[in-house]
Amino acid sequence: MPSKTRSIDEVLKKYWGYDSFRPLQADIINSVMEGRDTLGLMPTGGGKSLTFQVPTMAMEGMALVVTPIISLMKDQVDHLIERNIKATYMHAGLTAGEMRRTYEKCMYGNCKFLYVSPERLASQTFLDHLKHMPVCLIVVDEAHCISQWGYDFRPSFHNISSVRKLFPEVPVLALTASATPVVVDDIMKHLAFKAPNVLSMSFARKNLSYVVRHTDEKLAEAVRILQRVPGTAIVYVRSRKRTKLISDELNRLGIKADYYHAGLSHEEKEDKQNKWRSDECRVIVATNAFGMGIDKPDVRVVVHVDVPNSLEEYYQEAGRAGRDGKKSYVVLLVTHTDQRTLNRHVTDSFPERDFILSVYERACNFMHVAVGSGYDRVYDFNFNLFCRTFKLPVLPTHNALNILTRAGYITFMEESDAQSRVMILAGKNELYDLHTTTPGADQVLQALLRIYTGLFADYVFINEDVIAYRTGIDHETIYIALLEYTRMHVLHYVPRKRTPYIYFPTSREEPRYLRIPKAVYEDLRERMQKRVDAVISYASTAVSCRETALLSYFGEHVDGACGHCDACIERRKRISYTPADVQEGILYMAQVKPRKFQEFVDTLSFPKDAIHSMLSFLVDEGYIEHLPDDTYRNPVPLK
Ligand code: ADP
Ligand code: MG
Repeated sequence: MPSKTRSIDEVLKKYWGYDSFRPLQADIINSVMEGRDTLGLMPTGGGKSLTFQVPTMAMEGMALVVTPIISLMKDQVDHLIERNIKATYMHAGLTAGEMRRTYEKCMYGNCKFLYVSPERLASQTFLDHLKHMPVCLIVVDEAHCISQWGYDFRPSFHNISSVRKLFPEVPVLALTASATPVVVDDIMKHLAFKAPNVLSMSFARKNLSYVVRHTDEKLAEAVRILQRVPGTAIVYVRSRKRTKLISDELNRLGIKADYYHAGLSHEEKEDKQNKWRSDECRVIVATNAFGMGIDKPDVRVVVHVDVPNSLEEYYQEAGRAGRDGKKSYVVLLVTHTDQRTLNRHVTDSFPERDFILSVYERACNFMHVAVGSGYDRVYDFNFNLFCRTFKLPVLPTHNALNILTRAGYITFMEESDAQSRVMILAGKNELYDLHTTTPGADQVLQALLRIYTGLFADYVFINEDVIAYRTGIDHETIYIALLEYTRMHVLHYVPRKRTPYIYFPTSREEPRYLRIPKAVYEDLRERMQKRVDAVISYASTAVSCRETALLSYFGEHVDGACGHCDACIERRKRISYTPADVQEGILYMAQVKPRKFQEFVDTLSFPKDAIHSMLSFLVDEGYIEHLPDDTYRNPVPLK
């Protein structure tokens, strides 16, 4: 038990300003504070971060937070710092000096949260320092990555076991939004839970109607859905290019839309998000880059134009609908080629072994890493230039680098936009009589001093966007001003890096010694295939309830059908009609005006095949005319 505890409600109010916990948060927090190993399962956006942040603030000591996504690490650290909480993170881009300062800060108890990537835990130097830190909680975020059965397995997560050995008495808290029963067991096994302890809430979202539409005209179908369901919408597609094409088409049809993908500049992204959030734009057409941290409560419909690779991803993306608890729709559009596309994706993700080896050889040569060297070093790696230089196909090359990463030969990091940092070198008094010629430089410096604390003692992460916002000065000028001050030795500015890099956890191997283990190749390929098969089966016409299908995939026991997915509705239609009803419905509708087949299906509450066969019968018998524009008409005039 921690020696000094503050009430968790007090902590929540003091640092976050919230009055109450969300469902399950307090249960997880109490379990952790009782010193029990805990696995918390909560859907995305459920509020997992607070379940480790609050108890850590209520206890003495610091939390070691292991998380796989560098950009999220940075975001979380920023958020904590904004709340006056001491937090920091480590990544491969730090210099030796920076690393040392971070270690010292943590060892002297000047830090409540230390975020690290799982790769870091492999370093003996790190473990040697960690031993001396006052760790009171080990947190594993995105814990499904620890399991080979999860959809995002990362072997480096297995390093966590060495940390557990260092702190046998410290509880571990594993958090994830997606874990099938096998994954749940696997997580507890790999983290050496003292006793199984899973706290989870139902993943059912009662206000969501799950719908699958089989169509050969996906765009037309998407438009129809957006015309019928009013309110905010997200349309997910896979390709960046098509986000724009579809958004243009929607605008042409009078539906206010915009597009979003990872290739846009930071400013563009902000702008588009804001317009969508403030309802200036109704529909956002996006790749899966749109989502992290997006929390608009009143999304009425999420349409997937392309089928995702796993139900985990689908559930997360679709789950962005209806956060306000009101009725919302999530629609998956499926066409006959989708199954083939998904299967090809599996093949593409696992290129031939020879190809993987040749990518390794070339990448090492490209970075001038000789056989036997490279150990524990980081190299800038311009992926696009690499592909161009060796005329390599982008996708398989990318996947080859990922496989090499999983096999432990390299760590290929794409998102190395380590944040910019500043430390002030001049004394406080010297700052008053500085003379620069750079316009705006004074304001930039003043803004820095106002916004950030601790600049005199250490490197502090800064955000140029915040400075731009506070001063009204553009990014370019801020950049120049900070460089100017650096030249003057007033401060040291380390701008963020955007190029990807490769880290060598082991020195370069000779090709004949390179082994791609079955565990990171065949086994993973098989698992990916299973996930793809699960998506295909969810989307199949044979499913009797979509919600049941989805939840049982996540291992949840479901009592009966949801009653409002497309399969349930279709079934209800099937049991309550007679052929005479169908005939009457069709004849009446076609009498009012000529109709397309789909209109009958959408309006009448009979199954599609019943409408289809009755319509053919009525056409054959001459009661209904099939017109050249593919509409059906009942020539008998309305009385
Ligand atoms: P997750 O990691 O589960 O996806 P986050 O921890 O990122 O979710 O939290 C999602 C959002 O919910 C954040 O904006 C967070 O501030 C907010 N939130 C979490 N808990 C509470 C609470 N008890 N009261 C109000 N807002 C909360
Ligand atoms: Mg989270």
